[in-house]
Formats: sequence, structure tokens, C-alpha cells
Amino acid sequence: MSTEAILRRIRDEAIRFVDVRFTDLRGALHHVTLAADHVDAALIEEGCMFDGSSIAGWKSVEASDMKLRPDPQHAYIDPFHAEKTLCLHCSVVEPDSGEAYVRDPRSIAARAEAHLNRISVADAAYFGPEAEFFIFDDVRIATTMNRVAHEVDAPSAAWNSDTAYAAGNKGHRPHVRGGYLPVGPMDDGQDLRSEMLTTMQAMGMQVDKHHHEAATCQHELGLVFGPLLRQADEMQKYKYVVRNVAAAYGRTATFMPKPLQGDNGSGMHVNLSLWKDGHPLFAGDGYGGLSDTALWFVGGILRHARALNAFTNPTTNSYKRLVPGFAAPVLQSWSAHNRSGCVRIPWARSARGRRIEARFPDPSANPYLAFSALLMAGLDGIEQRIDPGDAMETNLYDIPSERPGEFPMLCRSLREALDALEEDHDFLRVDDVFPAELIESYIALKWTEVTRYDTTPHPVEFAMYYSI
Ligand code: GLU
Ligand code: MG
Ligand code: MG
Repeated sequence: MSTEAILRRIRDEAIRFVDVRFTDLRGALHHVTLAADHVDAALIEEGCMFDGSSIAGWKSVEASDMKLRPDPQHAYIDPFHAEKTLCLHCSVVEPDSGEAYVRDPRSIAARAEAHLNRISVADAAYFGPEAEFFIFDDVRIATTMNRVAHEVDAPSAAWNSDTAYAAGNKGHRPHVRGGYLPVGPMDDGQDLRSEMLTTMQAMGMQVDKHHHEAATCQHELGLVFGPLLRQADEMQKYKYVVRNVAAAYGRTATFMPKPLQGDNGSGMHVNLSLWKDGHPLFAGDGYGGLSDTALWFVGGILRHARALNAFTNPTTNSYKRLVPGFAAPVLQSWSAHNRSGCVRIPWARSARGRRIEARFPDPSANPYLAFSALLMAGLDGIEQRIDPGDAMETNLYDIPSERPGEFPMLCRSLREALDALEEDHDFLRVDDVFPAELIESYIALKWTEVTRYDTTPHPVEFAMYYSI
């Protein structure tokens, strides 16, 4: 949509407010609401000023002015606001030069796409993220908090999702890892998920299904694949709708990767494919129906997986999901069918559906940074013709104990992931897609989380150690 078309839309549809939205380094969406009668062509084309000093990891108070430059291609009406409000996703630019701000994640995604256009190997990359989430209600959260606080008295009954239902339970809910695709009344999220899907469609998103996931209270909606920047915007809308519809039902949604001990966590598998001149580059006659290009792409993702973890699994909680036994990967491995691997090759009806699925990412990731980093790792694999090694068909959870040390592991903590990124980031620096300043400031920001976590007594430590 052009600037003119946006202004016409504001007039014709009697829009009262224009909401400009942007994403910080951690992936949180922020917004500023402008009165629509003050929005003109200059504001859309040049951007509007805002103070960047209060956004974690961005500018300091001495030089805090920044501009939000709306992307007119991406406009939608916010269905949650009483007054008619048109939303625009923005990139962040320097106020004087108008250049992209180097720490703006959305600009990194734009750079990754520009890089793809400059190189000859492919002209399009498609991303199909599958973000899982949990929905809890306030009673249950209060119960959880109480239970954790009182664990001092009952150290043997470590809190888990089963015990979470001891109070306020309807008595008919999926139990631990018993939630996959049940009908109501076990599945009490049907109306809620349907409303999420309808709301997303009304916002111009392409969504095709929803279902209960394997963990108790866990859900997933199907977002149709799309190009990198667009799809990262869609993921931000996805989270926004999930949280707001849940709130409208008096409940709360979380994309925290592992909220329940002893049950599956939430992944954000990312399906990926490369295309050139309308042809799918991943289809071939190698293992899993893959081309050499696809195999090298997998090789790149596996080689850089530990550095990627810093972007795809960016919270201290992420590493509580990447443990054996819960359909999440632990080894740097791949195969066609195995869900315990890091990369899986999903079955595809035709060559056009051929893709790879990176299974380690989780929904606490900033989608702009995670998708861009995955693309850069895969492209490095193609550039260097990295052999992904043999596909592994066995249950990979058994391997580390049987043959310890033989297979490289994904990171086991955010600390390890930040160290890995520090060591291995040349593949991100190609064509200056990830500027050095972005990587440094991201690592510094994430270290504050590691330090806070490491120095905070954990509730379970009270259960284990209070009385020893
Ligand atoms: N929840 C699982 C994970 O942590 C994935 C389940 C699935 O295969 O959809 O990645
Ligand atoms: Mg799933
Ligand atoms: Mg999947």
C-alpha cells in the first residue's frame, strides 16, 4: 500500500487513530498511538520521533532521539480497540540521517532479505513458524505461586503440571503429556482458539488450523508460510492476538518455553525453504527428497546451531525445554522423521512443499533476529558446501547416555549460547546483515538476564535446601 493509499484509507474508513508499532531487541512489541487527523504524508515517509532511551539495550539518555518509520505495506485495523485504529509496523531510523538504526531487529530482517536478493543462489526464502503456547487462568497461576511458596513443607512433591490442578480443577483436563488433540470437554480451548484464528484472519493474516498440543493447557495455531520480514511481522501479530484473546476470556497466554516441570515445553519450529525464479531449490533426489542445496543448508544450521541458540532460544528458561524426553532436541542432529532431532525433514506432498524444519527454536525468540540468523547459517552452509553428516533415525534421547561425548549437543544454558555467539558470528556478519554493534549489544543485554537468574534464589532451591 502506498502512502497515498494509507491516507485515503484513514479518510474513507473514518479511522480515528494510527498506532505505530516496533519491536525491541528482546522481541517485545511496543506502540505509540497518533491522532489520525495529525497523520500526513511526511509522517509516514519520514517517520515520527520517539524517545529510545527507555527501551532496554538501545540508546542512552544523552542521545535518545529516534524515529519510527512506518512500513505502509503492512497496515491492519486493530480489532481489540474500541476506537477505529489503523496499525503500522515500523522500522527504527536515526533522526538525522534517516539510516536504519543498527540495533533495530526489524531492520536486520530487511537487511537479511536484501542480502538474499544480492546473492545469486536464491531469490526468496520462506518461513513457516509453528509457535506453541500455554493458556492458564488467574486461579491456576495463584495456585501455582502458593504451591511453590509452600514447597518448603513438601520437598518431595516437586511442583509439576499434575499438582497444579489439585485446586480449582474441573476434574476433566488433559494430564501431563496427555493433551494431544482431545475433543471437549477435555479440550476447553476450542472457542478461544477459534476466536484467535478468526481475529487473525480479520487482521489479514493467513492461518489454517488450530489444535490442543501435547502438554496440558498447551495450544498451537497454524500460520501459513511467508517471506522473512513479513513473517516476523506476522509472528508479532500472532503473539499479540493470542495474548489479547486470552485476556478477553479472563485468561493469560504465555510463550515462555517451559512453564511446567515434567511436561512438554513450547517450541517454535521454523519451516524453511529457498526458491529461485519460482522454483523450489530444496527439492531433489537426495535423502528425504532433498537437493544438495537443502543438504548444505541443513549443514550450515547444524554447524552454527550453538551460536544460533542465542537468538532462537534466548531466555534462561529456553534451556529447560531442550532436555531429553519432551519432543524437543538436545543434539546437533537431523533426520526425516525423528522428532528428537534438531532438524527434521517433514513429509511433503510435492516438490513445492519440500522444506526443512528447525526444531530447536522456541517462541521466546525475537522472530526478526531468529529468522535472519537461521537464514544466514543456512546460506553459509550453501556457500561452504557443508555436509550435514548422516541422518540419524534412532531415538536420539538414548544416545547421550549410551555414547556420551560422541555427538555435539545444543547449548544447555543461555550462558553457553552467549559464549557460542561470541565465538561464532562471522556467518552473521556477511554483507553486514548483523552489524557488530547489534551482536555486542544483544549479548550484553542477555548477560543481564543470565546474571539476574544466576544470582536469584530459585523457589525449588528452598524445597531442596531450606532444611538441609
Ligand atoms: N512441544 C514440542 C517442542 O518443544 C514439539 C511438539 C511438536 O512436535 O509439535 O518442541
Ligand atoms: Mg506443535
Ligand atoms: Mg513442527
